[in-house]
Amino acid sequence: MSVADYFDMMDYAPAPESQKEAEAWLQRHAAGFGLFVDGAWCAPADGGYLDSLNPASGAPLGRIARATVQDVDKAVDAAVRAQPEWQALGGHGRARVLYALARLVQRHSRLLAVLESLDNGKPIRESRDIDVPLVARHFYHHAGWAQLLDQDAELAQHAPVGVCGQIVPWNFPLLMLAWKIAPALACGNTVVLKPSELTSLSALKFAELAEQAGLPAGVLNLVTGDGQTGEALVDHPQIDKIAFTGSTAVGRRIRERTAGSGKALTLELGGKSPFIVFDDADLDAAVEGVVDAIWFNQGEVCCAGSRLLVQESIAEDFYSRLRRRMATLRVGSPLDKSVDVGALVDARQRQRIAAMVSAGREAGCTVWQADGEGPETGAFYPPTLCTDLGTDNPLWQDEVFGPVLAAMTFRTPDEAVQLANNTRYGLAASVWSESISLALDIVPQLQCGVVWVNATNMLDAAAPFGGYRESGFGREGGREGLFEYLTPRLGPCVAQSWQAPAASTSDATPTATAPAATIDRTAKHYIGGKQVRPDGGTSRPVQGTGRQIIGDVGEGNRKDIRNAVEAARKAGSWSTTPAHGRAQILYYLAENLETRAPEFADRLRSLTGCDQKAAEAEVGGAVHRLFTAAAWADKFAGGVDAVPMRALAVTLREPLGVLAIAAPAEAPLLGFVSLLAPAIAAGNRVVIVPAQTAPLSATDFYQVLETSDVPDGVVNIVTGDRDDLSDVLARHLDVDGIWYVGPADGCRRIEAASAGNLKQVWTNQGKAVDWHDPARLEGPSWMRRASQTKTVWIPYGA
Ligand code: NAD
Repeated sequence: MSVADYFDMMDYAPAPESQKEAEAWLQRHAAGFGLFVDGAWCAPADGGYLDSLNPASGAPLGRIARATVQDVDKAVDAAVRAQPEWQALGGHGRARVLYALARLVQRHSRLLAVLESLDNGKPIRESRDIDVPLVARHFYHHAGWAQLLDQDAELAQHAPVGVCGQIVPWNFPLLMLAWKIAPALACGNTVVLKPSELTSLSALKFAELAEQAGLPAGVLNLVTGDGQTGEALVDHPQIDKIAFTGSTAVGRRIRERTAGSGKALTLELGGKSPFIVFDDADLDAAVEGVVDAIWFNQGEVCCAGSRLLVQESIAEDFYSRLRRRMATLRVGSPLDKSVDVGALVDARQRQRIAAMVSAGREAGCTVWQADGEGPETGAFYPPTLCTDLGTDNPLWQDEVFGPVLAAMTFRTPDEAVQLANNTRYGLAASVWSESISLALDIVPQLQCGVVWVNATNMLDAAAPFGGYRESGFGREGGREGLFEYLTPRLGPCVAQSWQAPAASTSDATPTATAPAATIDRTAKHYIGGKQVRPDGGTSRPVQGTGRQIIGDVGEGNRKDIRNAVEAARKAGSWSTTPAHGRAQILYYLAENLETRAPEFADRLRSLTGCDQKAAEAEVGGAVHRLFTAAAWADKFAGGVDAVPMRALAVTLREPLGVLAIAAPAEAPLLGFVSLLAPAIAAGNRVVIVPAQTAPLSATDFYQVLETSDVPDGVVNIVTGDRDDLSDVLARHLDVDGIWYVGPADGCRRIEAASAGNLKQVWTNQGKAVDWHDPARLEGPSWMRRASQTKTVWIPYGA
């Protein structure tokens, strides 16, 4: 062939990465991989194994032990025994081990990359240049945090959570392991980790490296197996925290199963992230962005930009540039260094994706795939572009988790935002425009945990990652990620169980009637800034300590809750009001509460029977809470993360949205205000249900709200059967978070009911709360609870 012929053809020669070292390692374990428990390798209790296959060829790679309930017991027991010593080793001791792990990952990077590509099907270019370097970076970064834990004023007030059960998926097997293990170990926790049954090899190799790094026995335990093994871990009573990454369906199930167990929980779940291209974007750069967004890792990426939104005026141009680029993508052997798109994780995933695309086509969309042949065997699926679809098309709504892009047009920035947010997920988004002011105007309007401006899929150990809404809760990475593995040394709860105060109970028959003058009115609900009659038209009497009736309040029902949530939804501008403005209103609330202090003290005495001094102290405490929340409102800000790229990674703090609160009966005013104040300081709109035994100080609070310029709908108060109303709130799909204080059974019920839309929950876990101690009830941990972070990536460079 002549040189001219070669030029015409311009074909790539095969460039396979050597798999010799990986094959030798697999050969050494041909009899089957064991479980790594208490620093030693052991066979599964019942001798059960699963085959691990190469998805590009279907050939077996190894046999993976299927851990049973007994194996999980052994692993958890080892982690429990190892935890105190690992914690006692101190930050520097742990930092040395994490540093050794980072170095070992780097020394074995080629083997780890090849194993990852063999097992998962991802192109070697990605495992070699992205996955494994990010794994090493994660251990370096967290070695640093281990070293600094005692030196950071806020972190030093925290202790490790204890024993962590960690469950990871198959799409970034080693990277997800690093995201889980590094912060957990840095903070002094011990770990039992379960990799995906489809991709356990790199985790097994990592456990060998952990042995070499000098990790003490029992600090890291690895149990391989399927969902049943995962479930045994989730259910284990000695696990203190579950950290899960995987599908929303399994995440929801884990939320239900852990309800009432007292286990801390973080969930990193699915996504359907928008990729928005405005007409002033650099279109060629945006096309490359799309390639990274949806064809990186075959689209098996939780934060994949799988919904393309293009401004109408440039849509046809953009689609044709995109199709041209798609035609150049090479689909083929994952170990070939010049391949762009490798194999899907397995044949079932391929079938699932093909079925979803067929269903989308039947629902009316146009499906485009480049001509050209992919490999004949193996779990390969070509890059796919779907256009002409409606918002009800399953390809627009559901996570495909494959190389399938759904595209739609928009006309105005408002429409782009509305379409982008029209999903139950909220993991990530990408915004493309050469106008920085347009892009940064869109960023805060997007309901998701990560936004890339003129970029996509940028990730780093120093930058928090995690979702809003049904993409889960909790953050991985950076300082924020550490708090998921720590617990305040001085939490709000004290050891003993929560006790409903013996004070007034409105359900019992009253023995005496108060003088008529004290029953001068029925306190209504407070919804949307107005006092409104209860929907059912009924009220309930409130008794004082002498069991005489001292007032009446409205009997709330489901409809009242619906109205209150709707009013809170409508008050969205509170969430975008500058923090200074929110602070001013909180100070004003404090001022007006203090003006009425004698009245509130009288009310507390009649409600709880406390003496004058205690009543005054409670009112004074509530004023203090409001001052503290006002002070924090404009100081609990985000920051800039030190990432090793030419990019600004900025962490913003945003409110959860609509937050429901079930206030306690003990300390009726102080408990109510302690929860309300940080919630609204962080920008949430609140629906609050006061304790049914002592609601009158809450209904008196309307007058304070009404005289303090609190915008309508920011605080909504519904009285009635507190636990029934809390259940309705916990199930409500337009409520983003719920705080509940009550007995253990109530906490369990609320946590289980919250699984519907995976709202964020805080409960007292059935323990008593010391409402009078500002060290427990004030401070940044409450602001953190009331907010979520959004990480915004803005790359720079000419
Ligand atoms: P999956 O939920 O099926 O499995 C994840 C892990 O959970 C696996 O280890 C699996 O064995 C285990 N598991 C399955 N059933 C379980 C049960 N009942 N109890 C406990 N554990 C159980 O998810 P997958 O198919 O492995 O991964 C794909 C999903 O993961 C996608 O939805 C993707 O979006 C999500 N994901 C999210 C992130 C993120 O950070 N948000 C990152 C990667 C992947």
